[in-house]
Amino acid sequence: MISYDVVEWGKPLQRQEWPTPEPTGTEVLLKLKYCGVCHSDVHIRDGYFELGGGKRFHMSDRGMKPPVTLGHEPFGTVIAAGPDAGNVPIGQDRLVCPWIGCGKCVRCLEGQDNHCMTPQWVGIQRQGGYADHLLIPHPRYLVDASGIDPAWAATLACSGLTTFSAVNQLAPIPKDEWVMVLGAGGLGLMSIGMLRALGHEKIIAVDIDPAKFAAAREEGAAATVNGRDPDALKQVQSIAGGPLYGAVDLVNSTDTATLAFAAMRKGGRIILVGLYGGEIPLSLVTVVQRALTIVGSNVGTVAELKSVVQLAREGKLRPIPIECRPLSEVSRTLDELKAGKVNGRVVARID
Ligand SMILES: [Zn+2]
Ligand SMILES: [Zn+2]
Repeated sequence: MISYDVVEWGKPLQRQEWPTPEPTGTEVLLKLKYCGVCHSDVHIRDGYFELGGGKRFHMSDRGMKPPVTLGHEPFGTVIAAGPDAGNVPIGQDRLVCPWIGCGKCVRCLEGQDNHCMTPQWVGIQRQGGYADHLLIPHPRYLVDASGIDPAWAATLACSGLTTFSAVNQLAPIPKDEWVMVLGAGGLGLMSIGMLRALGHEKIIAVDIDPAKFAAAREEGAAATVNGRDPDALKQVQSIAGGPLYGAVDLVNSTDTATLAFAAMRKGGRIILVGLYGGEIPLSLVTVVQRALTIVGSNVGTVAELKSVVQLAREGKLRPIPIECRPLSEVSRTLDELKAGKVNGRVVARID
């Protein structure tokens, strides 16, 4: 098998050849067809995430040691399985849910692999999808995405799942209540799309760049507010006719989280997703008196990915513009992503 690997942090990926693995136990082997090229792989290749305030999160602290194969949005054909894998759809195409856990702990056994304390995420702790073959530990991570464009399906495993899972933690959303989406970039627009796919319409998009408001409205936001306006809180609450039911913060900076907390009604729910980073002073008594729920949301579960695929199949999610490029161009694609030169999403095509 071949893979394109980070051999040194921050350097171009290198093509490497390996013996193709043979699945044992419950393992499943896929011949990959596509792998989405996610913006977070730019940071992972560089070896760290900027957390704001001069703080960095280093991939080496997560146990990553080059050479590593990135790519956490894999899609391919199931070609082999170990003797204990059970009924495996050999010869069929499947999307892989990359957020794999240890498979043994309480969280994993209840399907909450994304909350496992010893994660085995594809393209982070395990070999990723910038390769022509991928071994996964169990067939339960395979998702049938038939009926939708496979290249699009690949991208649903990361940003689609992340936004669905975040929005889903507000459910059931009372129809007449307002939800604020903080950040109208890629994830913000997808969150608005997910809210609409779940049937919710009372959405306020907040961003500090008014140039993003047209896209937010097109995606389905009923109102937009400039978060830089000194009276942003007043604007939000006057649109909603009072405090809000919930907020999804795709930025998660001191400014956005402060606005989210100030805007909530009693029983309000704040879902924190973004990795911009920051801190806020939090009045603990206020959290009690307003019965607030604060949830950190990180990727999602296999079951949620199946729900996302189903929404796509039913035509409830708008397909995003996708450009397919050969896997050999993945390193250049990461450079272009870093330089902000990519429109829509690039998916690596693997032959
Ligand atoms: Zn990603
Ligand atoms: Zn586990």
